Amino acid sequence: MLPSFFDSVLQLIIKTSTELPPDVRAAMKTSLEAEPAGTRASQALTIIAQNIDLASDGEGAICQDTGMPTFEIKAPVGANQIWMREQIRQGIAEATRRGKLRPNSVDSITGKNSGDNLGPGTPIIHFEQWERGDIEIRLILKGGGCENTNAQYSVPVELPHLGRADRTLDGVKKCILHAVWQAQGKGCSPGAVGVCVGGDRTSGYLQAKEQLFRPLDDINPDPRLAELEASIMSTINTLEIGAMGFGGRVTLIGCKIGALNRLPASFFVSVAYDCWAFRRLGVVLDGATGAITSWLYRDPANPIIPMLDQAGFARTGREVALKAPLSGEDVRALKVGDVVLVSGRMFTGRDAVHSYLMKNAPPVDLRGSVLYHCGPVVVKDENASAAAWRVTAAGPTTSIREEPYQGEIIKRYGVRAVIGKGGMGAKTLAAMKEHGAVYLNAIGGAAQFYARTIKQVDGVSLLEFGTPEAMWHLTVEDFPAIVTMDAHGNSLHKDIEEESGERLATLGA
Ligand code: SF4
Repeated sequence: MLPSFFDSVLQLIIKTSTELPPDVRAAMKTSLEAEPAGTRASQALTIIAQNIDLASDGEGAICQDTGMPTFEIKAPVGANQIWMREQIRQGIAEATRRGKLRPNSVDSITGKNSGDNLGPGTPIIHFEQWERGDIEIRLILKGGGCENTNAQYSVPVELPHLGRADRTLDGVKKCILHAVWQAQGKGCSPGAVGVCVGGDRTSGYLQAKEQLFRPLDDINPDPRLAELEASIMSTINTLEIGAMGFGGRVTLIGCKIGALNRLPASFFVSVAYDCWAFRRLGVVLDGATGAITSWLYRDPANPIIPMLDQAGFARTGREVALKAPLSGEDVRALKVGDVVLVSGRMFTGRDAVHSYLMKNAPPVDLRGSVLYHCGPVVVKDENASAAAWRVTAAGPTTSIREEPYQGEIIKRYGVRAVIGKGGMGAKTLAAMKEHGAVYLNAIGGAAQFYARTIKQVDGVSLLEFGTPEAMWHLTVEDFPAIVTMDAHGNSLHKDIEEESGERLATLGA
């Protein structure tokens, strides 16, 4: 067998989780430079840039959601794919054990996390044979927040703000514009889209995701699709959705389009949205040893240029210091657009915790609390005398999933602040107004940055849900976030969606 294969795969997984490829770094640097200093978008992108640097310096996960690992492998004729598949599975388990990947594989019937990222359908591994002796492995780690914003259209279709999308390239363009608009900040914009025109429902989505393996700066070999990509990129940023949906000049950093033949009766446009934490790398391995002979997308001989040449998140002096637990007066004094620095006790809670709280009393007193929508990467320090947990990555998760429950939980238990990303809907906004609570938008994907604001893990409840879904009791210091929904019925998310919807109408005209 190939003696170095396992180590090579493990290196690939760790690098992919911790180091953004140079083309994505360059695009993010350009995005940062495009936003005027002091704007919400600029502050968000500064935190993102600092996070990218922290992740590569400390070999920590760029985002706590290390996503669905998807491998695309080209192997020589006759190579033992069964053995390779098992080695890759073991590499995934080892990277998880080392805290480079979050345990992310959940039994869909029982909700139980396998703990090692292995299970039916996880990881995804596709093999293809080629007439060469070496082995090429490409890996993409695509998180749930952006995966949930994927969209598939069966055209002709009527689209809000855009009218009818027909079975033409103009109709395809309308579908792509709509997909980016409806994602708003939920997929941690600025993002990139992979698109497939045609195919069937299954092959369309697969091809759309495969387009994300193309470098951001390549040119489509099909001139018609190259023109469409350029047309999307030259207009889409006028939507002004901006980083994290805060409003701003850069909404999309890439658009890559492929096409497959289709049945005469079907015409699908499939859009795979990837966030700024666009983690994809690849390696070429020696066919006899499995050792890495070269990297794809990155050249290890070129040093990584830091994203920032200064200290990162720059305070303006206008930030509001919040010390949890919070009072009704604390939160009613806040308004949309305020930047806050939260210190004190914070509890994490995401899907399993919200479902639990709808049927059971909370394991801790939540009056005045700050509830953080976050599924952190947490490792246990086995050498410590008492059980010691350390948070190694802790960015926010997409809040809208908790929309059916959040208002009721605020009302029942007296939660004063909810932290997450992407904003929430009308039910939560109404509950915040009635009961005195705010929504604080943290910067999606800034897992390393936020992990450093956590000074201590004080305890954990509901650990039986697995580490990402448990309720962690954290002490934080100067955790920055932006008030995007206040206790007076205002929502930045609603405003940006409406304003960008009006701009969308002009693009589709
Ligand atoms: S950056 Fe945002 S969308 Fe991307 S994986 Fe992280 S949390 Fe999910």
